[in-house]
Amino acid sequence: MQSFDVVIVGGGMVGLALACGLSGSGMRIAIIENSPPHHQFDPQQTPSLRVSAINAASQKLLDHLGVWQTIVQKRVGSYQHMEVWQQDSFGHIEFDAQDHYLPGLGHIIENSIMRGSLWQQAQSSTDITLFTESRLKKVAWGENEVFMTFDNEQMLTARLVVGADGAKSWLREKADIPLSFWDYEHTALIATIRTELPHIHTARQSFHSDSILAFLPLHDPYLCSIVWSMPAMQAHRRLDLEVSAFEKELSVALDMRLGFCQLISERQIFPLIGQYARNFAGQRIALIGDAAHTIHPLAGQGVNLGFMDVAELIGQLRRLNSAGKDIGQYLYLQSYERKRKYSAVMMLAGMQGLRQLFEGHNPIKKMIRDVGLLLTNKVPGIKPKLLSYALGSHDMPEWLAKVTTNSSEIV
Ligand SMILES: Cc1cc2nc3c(=O)[nH]c(=O)nc-3n(C[C@H](O)[C@H](O)[C@H](O)COP(=O)(O)OP(=O)(O)OC[C@H]3O[C@@H](n4cnc5c(N)ncnc54)[C@H](O)[C@@H]3O)c2cc1C
Repeated sequence: MQSFDVVIVGGGMVGLALACGLSGSGMRIAIIENSPPHHQFDPQQTPSLRVSAINAASQKLLDHLGVWQTIVQKRVGSYQHMEVWQQDSFGHIEFDAQDHYLPGLGHIIENSIMRGSLWQQAQSSTDITLFTESRLKKVAWGENEVFMTFDNEQMLTARLVVGADGAKSWLREKADIPLSFWDYEHTALIATIRTELPHIHTARQSFHSDSILAFLPLHDPYLCSIVWSMPAMQAHRRLDLEVSAFEKELSVALDMRLGFCQLISERQIFPLIGQYARNFAGQRIALIGDAAHTIHPLAGQGVNLGFMDVAELIGQLRRLNSAGKDIGQYLYLQSYERKRKYSAVMMLAGMQGLRQLFEGHNPIKKMIRDVGLLLTNKVPGIKPKLLSYALGSHDMPEWLAKVTTNSSEIV
């Protein structure tokens, strides 16, 4: 039987970031991961399909964890401008980093690059043990410890177990934590696109009555990753559409702003759900990332929210451990739960509101949207507030906000 202070179930981007952030604290950490990364980064290969828009707060955390430079040396896209508009109308809003004295607004990074870099970092830490060979089959909560059993009968104990095992979290289910859940009735279609015109480091998002199309600029000036959310039937139709017809529909949906769009990858679809766990913590358990909350990708905030769960938990666990407190006590974990649940619920509600506002053909609603977008674009004071949300500055725990960064520029 091996004993740890913290066992993290799930070695995705969020679980690995927590392990790296606790390394060096004197705590013994374990990660249990069913599917470890197996691809080495190859700069010659086309970008992988899954990418995330990473905001300044997450960048700061990754920098603090010592992986930002590794990520940048591999491949990242960055954007200095953002354009959001409603199709067939006058409503639009633009953000420009220079107008706000910022070096940039964010980065577009392949999930496999982020995860691979965090995995490498975790592997090189002597405080972190990675379990990848067998699957967990049992977990039981005792008074002072949590007991976990693998299907080869190997056992582990921990003072605290953290669920970072994604939207369908096995640990959350074993802990009997209920979910609030709703179907967005949207499916996201993702693909990599070569465009006729350069993206000029601009993230673009176009709202249609029944879909939302995002073009995220990659490292190559003529490559973008798209996230096109729409009703499931439409998504399936576009998934099966002949390539040339798909390219035509896509180019038109972006109002030809980047000229003709050429599909250079496969297309994949993901049904979108919104959910949050009713409890983000309990006695000897905490949930982080998609295990705690899953949101519509329309504002590209899912993993950013997860990284801020990590930042909050790192701060609290380090503080508790150095004060000699029992890190698994719910009494202490409640503060983590309160703060992160508030952020997640606000974000979920915001995304839902935005989606509903932009949905449908009702002409009055459309005019309100147009005027709203115009006012937001013109009235002083609104854009900086929205920008602070997009950059994640409002959501950073105090310790991270105070950290001085290693990288020469954040965003
Ligand atoms: C189309 C789309 C676009 C998105 N775009 C963005 C974006 O631009 N910006 C953004 O911030 N977010 C975005 N997101 C959200 C983002 O992808 C997720 O929030 C993020 O991947 C969650 O990371 P995670 O580590 O919490 O969970 P996951 O990535 O799901 O990782 C969970 C890990 O746990 C492992 N696991 C599962 N069960 C077990 C078990 N029983 N035992 C051991 N291991 C287990 C899995 O193998 C996996 O490695 C997008 C999502 C979608 C669907």
